[in-house]
Amino acid sequence: MKFSLFALARQAIGGAPWPAQWRDPEPRASYDTVIVGAGGHGLATAYYLAKEHGIRDIAVLDKGWLGGGNTGRNTTIIRSNYLRDESAAIYEHSLKLWETLSSTLNYNTMYSPRGVLMLAHNEHDVRVFRRHVHANRAQGIDNEWLTPEQAKAFCPPLYIGADARYPVLGAALQRRGGVARHDAVAWGYARAASAMGVDIVQNCAVTGIARGPDGAVTGVETTRGAIATKRIGVVAAGHTSVLMAMAGVRMPLESFPLQALVSEPVKPIMPCVVMSNSVHAYISQSDKGELVIGAGTDAYTSYSQAGGLHIAAHTLEAICEMFPSFRRLRMLRNWGGIVDTTPDRSPIIGPTPVPGLFVNCGWGTGGFKATPGSGHVFAATIARGEPHPIAAPFGLDRFRTGRPIDEAAAAAVSH
Ligand SMILES: Cc1cc2nc3c(=O)[nH]c(=O)nc-3n(C[C@H](O)[C@H](O)[C@H](O)COP(=O)(O)OP(=O)(O)OC[C@H]3O[C@@H](n4cnc5c(N)ncnc54)[C@H](O)[C@@H]3O)c2cc1C
Repeated sequence: MKFSLFALARQAIGGAPWPAQWRDPEPRASYDTVIVGAGGHGLATAYYLAKEHGIRDIAVLDKGWLGGGNTGRNTTIIRSNYLRDESAAIYEHSLKLWETLSSTLNYNTMYSPRGVLMLAHNEHDVRVFRRHVHANRAQGIDNEWLTPEQAKAFCPPLYIGADARYPVLGAALQRRGGVARHDAVAWGYARAASAMGVDIVQNCAVTGIARGPDGAVTGVETTRGAIATKRIGVVAAGHTSVLMAMAGVRMPLESFPLQALVSEPVKPIMPCVVMSNSVHAYISQSDKGELVIGAGTDAYTSYSQAGGLHIAAHTLEAICEMFPSFRRLRMLRNWGGIVDTTPDRSPIIGPTPVPGLFVNCGWGTGGFKATPGSGHVFAATIARGEPHPIAAPFGLDRFRTGRPIDEAAAAAVSH
């Protein structure tokens, strides 16, 4: 048998053989629940629906391959030091799940809490980040203020000289923050959900949402045929507006390209994650040795999975100013994803005006870190038909009732 050695090796380390756990099924004609989008959030939702709510008759549909959207394209920064109580609660819920995710899924997600350093380059940054430190401590979340010298000691390649183009006046450090392996997260959730009976159907684009006489959803049209269902969870970052329009729901979302790039691989040099919100540059080092660099969003809405070259050029210029020794590195590759953003830069999670239709979107540039927590609370919301308490503040109706969670104004960044 083709996989016998591999299967034996997996059994020897305590895992079941891969072929027994992984299926690539044809979609059936009906399911209890359909999740649209096999990114991390959609797969995590299916996993927690099956694991915690006993709902296993689920299809997760994706127009491409699983994890091929933003989940497989992001720079994997994980942190929970957000300002608003509602945001801190959901990101901290997620961070706690990250801490045990590899053992939960029996799959190495390579979560690495190596510390996230957020640089302050001007007086405004200093005040904003100090306010974050105080707020986070009041919320029971770790965050601390470092002097420039302490920041340099934590991250030796950082240049803090007085002549720096982007002077470092201090930094906020969340030590429990870090990175994970993006595709491992998608595969870990996919394998565990599949093992519980969830069908993950790739190359299956949803092209319509069917509704009955009472307005409730009755199924989806797809490129692989119609599928009947009574519950649909839309988790299709970047394309949410398009899908929700199929059910007649208009969303307060805009879609933008966001891009990232990696350098050639080098030996370990970057011990932590550094974020420079003012100049829009984010950097860490992958286990393969590549420096992973995140850039800003394009200024114009688009569904192109490639950002403007001038955005990447600015980011590289900023990285070279802050880390002069990195000037000698060559760029290996760059790519883009499409993120959807809300007016308050906070996500939307919950039921919609259409019975049976639920939505999870608007994570903008910062939803990877939320993957476990988002899936966990969205699954509870779908299973119970009402928002999980942590998800409740993020309902769609906050834009009607005037209760935004303005994380954008608070942080000026959302990675
Ligand atoms: C360059 C970049 C850097 C980022 N950096 C960070 C970071 O450092 N930290 C962080 O926390 N977040 C970051 N993000 C954001 C993060 O990647 C996203 O918020 C998160 O991955 C969203 O996950 P998801 O599962 O909702 O979406 P996705 O992984 O995009 O999954 C959505 C899926 O829906 C599918 N789909 C769309 N339309 C249809 C349809 N009609 N029918 C069927 N399927 C459909 C897509 O094919 C896709 O696979 C970054 C994003 C990008 C692009």
